[in-house]
Amino acid sequence: FSSLKLQPELLKNIESLGYVKMTPIQAQSLPPILAGKDVIGQAKTGSGKTAAFGLGILEQLNVRNTRVQALVLCPTRELADQVSNALRRLARMCPNVKVLTLCGGMPYRPQVSSLGHGAHVVVGTPGRIAKHLRTGSLNLGSLRVLVLDEGDRMLKMGFQEEVDAIIAKTPEARQTLLFSATYPREIQSIAEKVMRDPVMAKVESTHDSGS
Ligand code: AMP
Repeated sequence: FSSLKLQPELLKNIESLGYVKMTPIQAQSLPPILAGKDVIGQAKTGSGKTAAFGLGILEQLNVRNTRVQALVLCPTRELADQVSNALRRLARMCPNVKVLTLCGGMPYRPQVSSLGHGAHVVVGTPGRIAKHLRTGSLNLGSLRVLVLDEGDRMLKMGFQEEVDAIIAKTPEARQTLLFSATYPREIQSIAEKVMRDPVMAKVESTHDSGS
């Protein structure tokens, strides 16, 4: 990790988490992510993919700006909770970083009120995020990084339309990171549509990495 251009707070925290070296997906994806490139990461849960996009997000946050600068779309509430917790853990030495989780099946009003207080990173499921965008409680005008996590699962669960609607509300000059365990045609065509000259990061075996 010390070879990467990361803030001292992030490096110190990585050390305190006991991450000694990058997992294969991190070694492949973090350099282009930190260089601001769009990246397609073919990796499963357990590969360390969350820290890969998480560090990419945290490195470029401007904490003084309380508008949403990064959005992570996840197929399920469970994954969104896991990702939020992982991001908070990665950010624990960066003061005042606010990560907000917005998922379906949870009360809507409190989410609107949390959004009113400002958040740097939003993590959520496509249906609920699309609803907040429709009603105007969420504005992605300052978004810099969009992450599609478990893209193949998101499509299988029928979220294509919501994902398209959300992407349409993000600035063109964003960085897009797509993580997916598999890379079927549908994912390829999304990548072609919404990414700019993406770098492919692919690891063969992902099971025993990361711990
Ligand atoms: P993920 O694939 O993102 O769900 O991560 C799997 C697990 O690996 C999580 O518990 C992380 O805390 C852990 N992890 C991520 N990166 C590293 C690393 N470089 N070294 C050791 N553990 C890691």
